Amino acid sequence: MTPTKAVFRFAPSPNGELHLGHAYSALLNHAMARAAEGRFLLRLEDIDKARCSLAFERQIEDDLAFLGVDWDEPPRRQSEHFADYAAALEALADEELIYPAFMTRGEVRAFAERFEEEEGRPWPRDPDGAPIYPGLDRHASTAEREKRMSEGERFAWRLDMERAIECAPALAWEETGASPSGDTGEIVARPLEWGDVVLGRQDMPTSYHLAVIVDDGLQGVTDVVRGRDLFYATSVHRLLQALLGLPAPRYHHHPLILGPDGRKLSKSARDTSLRSLRAAGLAAEDIRRMVGLPGRADAEMLSRTGRSATG
Ligand code: GLU
Repeated sequence: MTPTKAVFRFAPSPNGELHLGHAYSALLNHAMARAAEGRFLLRLEDIDKARCSLAFERQIEDDLAFLGVDWDEPPRRQSEHFADYAAALEALADEELIYPAFMTRGEVRAFAERFEEEEGRPWPRDPDGAPIYPGLDRHASTAEREKRMSEGERFAWRLDMERAIECAPALAWEETGASPSGDTGEIVARPLEWGDVVLGRQDMPTSYHLAVIVDDGLQGVTDVVRGRDLFYATSVHRLLQALLGLPAPRYHHHPLILGPDGRKLSKSARDTSLRSLRAAGLAAEDIRRMVGLPGRADAEMLSRTGRSATG
């Protein structure tokens, strides 16, 4: 039997310019795909149409071409596939795994602050540091939900996390990179830490978590290579894959490139954007060196001799 060809993807959001951190992620991803003789896909995660633009998309494609990163089929633009995410959301609704939640993020924050003031102990937070949704609307009656929705009250579709875990307990994934604290190998998923995550909104049938696993499934992605800042979110991704009957890819969470201040680079920090580095005259080889990857010629030589060029 011939083994399935590996499929890798780089999935930036076109809501700003790529920086050195993206360059590292794209180059590593691409090198791993080519070393595995696999396919390499580009996906544009543009569900937030208000913040994404075609100009950023063009800049991303141009920067990747400059780096020597090529992709094997036309990029998948998430904003063109809302029907796929709506179908997944519908499947979860059919299993009564999601519910409309009417508290806004601001109200959740205020709730947590009030709790902490009154009780003198911390309200639980998710791995990104945001207060966990208190779940006040989780057990509302159908009549009440319908009334509030028909009155036009804003809501988000949230996953009923406890129910979801009952349906898909004991999940794990294969990690070939590492968590921020160095865990690698078989990682036990801990989705409960995230509480009832948002999977859609009244005007958008998806969230990042849902779109990313639907696309990885539809595109047959076997290997997800991305930054360690998404390590903990993988627990939610594994759970959604299990609930929707999608296969689990292998994951490789790589270290983040930090700025001189030791913080994660941001899309608004112009000095490390690839566009400005290119404008300052840097070549692709310079960028590879800045992110700690071997030069192209060295990388090719290493891969010919069968050694890893990606560290
Ligand atoms: N679109 C996400 C980002 O730009 C990456 C998602 C992923 O690789 O899973 O951070």
